[in-house]
Amino acid sequence: MIKNQIKFFDSHVHFLWCGSFEKVKKDWQYLIFRGLGGIAAIINVDAPRDIKRYLEFIPTSYHKDIDAYFFKEGLGSDVSAARKLGDLEVFPYVDCRYLKTRDSDLTRFQEAGFRGLKVLYTPEEEEEMGIVGWRKFFGRSEQESQKIVMEMIKQAVTFGWPIIFHVNLKQYESFLTEVLETYKKHPFIIPHFGFSRKRMARFLERFNSCYSDFSSLLPHMQKNPQGYLDFITDFQDRILFGSDTTLGRPELIEDYLDFVLKLIEDRNIQEKILFKNHLRIHS
Ligand SMILES: [Zn+2]
Repeated sequence: MIKNQIKFFDSHVHFLWCGSFEKVKKDWQYLIFRGLGGIAAIINVDAPRDIKRYLEFIPTSYHKDIDAYFFKEGLGSDVSAARKLGDLEVFPYVDCRYLKTRDSDLTRFQEAGFRGLKVLYTPEEEEEMGIVGWRKFFGRSEQESQKIVMEMIKQAVTFGWPIIFHVNLKQYESFLTEVLETYKKHPFIIPHFGFSRKRMARFLERFNSCYSDFSSLLPHMQKNPQGYLDFITDFQDRILFGSDTTLGRPELIEDYLDFVLKLIEDRNIQEKILFKNHLRIHS
């Protein structure tokens, strides 16, 4: 059965998949048919060619989303491939996790057509997620990583790029405060509700151009729908629809969509979350 069309955008999709890109393209057609207007595509640039080294910086739960064919085809960093997803409006973000200090000038990415910056802020190993962190990966101290991230942010602000800043507020609240204090008017999206709704609320109250998304939180939202609905209602102008899925798993977006449509009954709030807040930042 074909369900009703509903306009929506996914603000958090990782540009990873298994098999050939041609097959991936076909798998997205159903969502476009359901009303998906576009995605923010988070693209790993300057990624290692060695699969083992590549995976050191990919959360363990995503290892099944990449295969040898993906490496062989070599389109995982290709912003022009991202534009070939049919009628989808693809807003490409540079994911800077693999960028070395000496290669971190973002000008070449702007020239290539990127339009946003994604920071996975991990100066140290994150054992729970299964990623190695910059200290182990590059031998870079936390202080150096902070400095280089600050420089990339400065450049992104100059370009007018929105910034998706993945940061665990339980660990790095003071660094985020410093960043947002420096760029009060610039759009920052702190995904996954910053891993703490309580802390996230303080940032959303204090900074008008700070946004958040509920990507990767579906299991938590299913366990506590009322708690999440209250939070979304309180910050309805600052929360984006995001799934944290990969290009190879579009069906996860539908799970998010069905859940959100059931959770949020207020039409006005629904529209803000599904597309209005996304378009305010991405057009
Ligand atoms: Zn993500």
